[in-house]
Amino acid sequence: MDKATDERFTVFLREKAAEAKRELKYDPRQFLAMLGADGGYATVSKLVGGRNPSDGFVKLWESGRLDLSVEALVLETEWIRFFDEQLLKEAERKLKAANYPFVRHAANAGSERLPADTLKKATPEYIWRAVQLFRSGNVSHPFGSSTKYDLIAENGDRFPPKAIFGVALSMALDGAVIEPKHFSGDETSLCFALLRDAGYQIVPKGFNAPSLDPASLPEQGWAEGDRKLVSHLKRERAAGLAKAKKAQYKRLHGKLTCERCRLDPVTAFGTELAEACIEVHHSTTHVSQMGAQHMTTLDDLQCLCANCHRLVHRLLREEAGA
Ligand SMILES: [Zn+2]
Ligand SMILES: [Zn+2]
Repeated sequence: MDKATDERFTVFLREKAAEAKRELKYDPRQFLAMLGADGGYATVSKLVGGRNPSDGFVKLWESGRLDLSVEALVLETEWIRFFDEQLLKEAERKLKAANYPFVRHAANAGSERLPADTLKKATPEYIWRAVQLFRSGNVSHPFGSSTKYDLIAENGDRFPPKAIFGVALSMALDGAVIEPKHFSGDETSLCFALLRDAGYQIVPKGFNAPSLDPASLPEQGWAEGDRKLVSHLKRERAAGLAKAKKAQYKRLHGKLTCERCRLDPVTAFGTELAEACIEVHHSTTHVSQMGAQHMTTLDDLQCLCANCHRLVHRLLREEAGA
């Protein structure tokens, strides 16, 4: 790598470090010091070449953001072409050991595969919307039916995972044409990882999905046999729904907050992990008017903090006379 290129690479890494600082409240001071002293290329060679994962790698792994690790940054971006195969293999080894589903940047893979950054545009919101399109039967796409795997949607409907993902990605990219050649859809693919992360199960064809009865999940004080309340819980725990609502809410508002008490948990608790405080509630006026075939839309849902959600359910029970 020549000097001017190394300088650009160093700037790129500084920006990624700033992203980690902004989003994870993690200040990679040692990494920045190395960048300042040796530049990007030498720093990355040293970190990736080291036998053990660096402290930064471990920190990012804990935050679920290995996409910001130097290992992922050399594999998954156009910078891949400046690194030799031995270093790339070492980066792959570390990421694999951490169960991170990396995707080699397409320029190097010599194919028409889309880079990981692009595939990740298919957020849980778009994946959920794609599933709804398949459920309605009103969808056309260039994907074949799946030969090996099924994605399980709410009500146990089965759809081809790769086609669902392709349609979701096309929507996320404003209708761009997405074809089977653009990404892989097998057990170790990023496509499957993102579908699962969106709340869907993917099983080999012919296998039954381990059934998760939403009504059996622990919820303090829900009277058994109270059909109205049980159906409420079932609806708000449908596969993919909560993740889709949260992704949409974040897209529209920039962050997750409680729609009832306005709590902004990430700011209040100082960590992205506090997003777990926000739950998705199925607004009840809708639920009570719904037939069994009603298709929930994201507008039927509210983002509530766990406290408000509990209270709202409690009020529901009072209403129902439980
Ligand atoms: Zn609240
Ligand atoms: Zn609820």
